[in-house]
Amino acid sequence: MEDSWITEMTIFLTTRLPPQQLSTDERKRLAVRSRNFCLLNNTLYHKGADGIWRRAVRQFEKSVILRESHCGIAGGHYVGEATGGKIWNSGLWWPTVMKDATDYCRKCDVCQRMGQPTERDRMPFPPVLPLQPFQKWGLEWTLSVHSNRQHCGQVIGAS
Ligand SMILES: [Zn+2]
Repeated sequence: MEDSWITEMTIFLTTRLPPQQLSTDERKRLAVRSRNFCLLNNTLYHKGADGIWRRAVRQFEKSVILRESHCGIAGGHYVGEATGGKIWNSGLWWPTVMKDATDYCRKCDVCQRMGQPTERDRMPFPPVLPLQPFQKWGLEWTLSVHSNRQHCGQVIGAS
């Protein structure tokens, strides 16, 4: 069972009793690991090294989360590290999120057909020069652009 660690941690946090089949060392490890977990409304949360609590994701949710983070509306077919970062920024977590995101991105059919970005894929980016002292300018996302290669882009408006 892929979600056995969630069940094991949930039971331990609820009862403070480790499973009987665990050895003494495994029980100690479970107790130490449990410091980074908490239960809130029967939902398991994990505290990352950055101190942010993220919901522990069950196995059946992972494929949808990976797909939406990589090639969904908020996707953009970024590399595994960026896709995993999006999942973390969404407040979701599982022990192998970065590895799973990297594996998913390496197997993405669109990315495999596209290959590495080339010089032809670059867009000109002219510098914006300030016209007055202390002049500020900002960026805003305006609209999505779908090219014929099925990759999404964003048009940035500067003011
Ligand atoms: Zn992709």
